[in-house]
Amino acid sequence: MLTKISKHLQNLAKKSKAIKKQFYPSEKEKKSSLRASLDPLSEEKYKKTKGLIHKYPKRVLVELTLNCAAFCRFCTRRRDVSNIKKGILSPQNIKDIMDYIYSQSKINEVIISGGDPLTTPKLLIFFLQKLLESRQIKIIRIHTRVPVSNPSFVTKELLDIFSRVNTVKPLYIGIHFEHPDEITPVTIKTISSLRKTGAILFSQSVFLKGINDSYETLEKLFTKLSELGIRPYYIFHCDLVKGIEHFIVPIEKEIKIMTKLRKNLSGIAFPFHAIDAPKGFGKIIVPLKFWEFKKDYFRDFNMKKILMYP
Ligand code: SF4
Repeated sequence: MLTKISKHLQNLAKKSKAIKKQFYPSEKEKKSSLRASLDPLSEEKYKKTKGLIHKYPKRVLVELTLNCAAFCRFCTRRRDVSNIKKGILSPQNIKDIMDYIYSQSKINEVIISGGDPLTTPKLLIFFLQKLLESRQIKIIRIHTRVPVSNPSFVTKELLDIFSRVNTVKPLYIGIHFEHPDEITPVTIKTISSLRKTGAILFSQSVFLKGINDSYETLEKLFTKLSELGIRPYYIFHCDLVKGIEHFIVPIEKEIKIMTKLRKNLSGIAFPFHAIDAPKGFGKIIVPLKFWEFKKDYFRDFNMKKILMYP
């Protein structure tokens, strides 16, 4: 994967090690174990037409571009992301995607991802218009990291189309956050503009060794996000991708942190902790480490309650 770091992140990285580690390449990327692969989630297997991944019955993911405002070193799609020439979709590709969607009547949701779809605004607007025309598509999701990596890419033109989409169908915008140092005044302003479009904002994160694998860091991150009107949605165990193994946090450590967070955070500030299972089997929620749950006790309790009624 190429190196690309926006001016905004270069400035932040001067003061924040957590940001520097995410975007500046390291020698560790050259080492990988035999267990790691380039595509552990088998996304290539689910590609139906250029740019479209269809893994779950009711939703599809569209990689609108393989470009981003900055390239995260831990990217799961690093096998492809940054290969800009290969990645960008043409109007004909969009037509093929819409034809595929119309051939599968169960699909009601489109996730626009990449790369980062906000780096190709004209194409994003074109695609959103196609989705607006579709009676079949009821839910639109956009996944982006631009509010963190280059907030200036969130232009008035984009805000206008997001507002328009929201008058017709719900628009969900998932923003990728890893560390509280990413929440700067300009990012806060961008979040506020996105909220005014009526879009429902949620966050996604990845556990990253040496960056956010501590209770204090995540407590601060999820509290701040929920205060800003972003619902923390998922935090993932880092995928076993070649070149990013040095970012993987032991799962036991993650569980310990998440259990403590569950005890102390408000429910709306607490995300799902999940593993994206290898070979495309989907997301598995990681259980917390509370006391043993005695199902029998609650079954008996309910029975007695029912018997008490005449
Ligand atoms: S913004 Fe997303 S797609 Fe782009 S490099 Fe980062 S994780 Fe990968």
